[in-house]
Amino acid sequence: MSEADCIFCHIVAGTKPCHKVLESDSVLCFMDVFPATEGHTLVIPKQHFETVFDISEAAMQAVAAAVRRVAGAIRGELSPDGITIAQVNGAAAGQTVMHYHVHLLPRTEGASMRLHGSTKADPARLDELAGAFAARL
Ligand code: AMP
Ligand code: ZN
Repeated sequence: MSEADCIFCHIVAGTKPCHKVLESDSVLCFMDVFPATEGHTLVIPKQHFETVFDISEAAMQAVAAAVRRVAGAIRGELSPDGITIAQVNGAAAGQTVMHYHVHLLPRTEGASMRLHGSTKADPARLDELAGAFAARL
């Protein structure tokens, strides 16, 4: 997959929309449009790297710092029983978008979860969540 075909590169460039939570020079955070759980959020480096084997150390550190901040905002807003932080590399591991990203998945005690949601979220709800998380950063 080239960067020209990459949906996340398009989101970074602003040629595709997202429900934005956080943006810095090197990182973008936005709501997953097919949430596996309520509040499912993604953090990506702005630069295109496919996997953990490609990403620079600096970009990975910037992503990790954003993940930590956003996890706190999610906890503050939704008070989940837990948060799963997941990152997959390669199709065999379940990677569907070949641009490095970290999933933040608020969890409810006793509720099972698959990494990929099957229902597109209500955009109004995603806007609401993105705004609420951003306000807590
Ligand atoms: P993965 O399977 O780990 O590669 O995860 C890719 C994630 O990106 C999935 O959870 C998708 O629902 C999500 N996704 C795909 N396209 C978009 C998009 N345009 N905006 C937000 N999330 C997306
Ligand atoms: Zn990309």
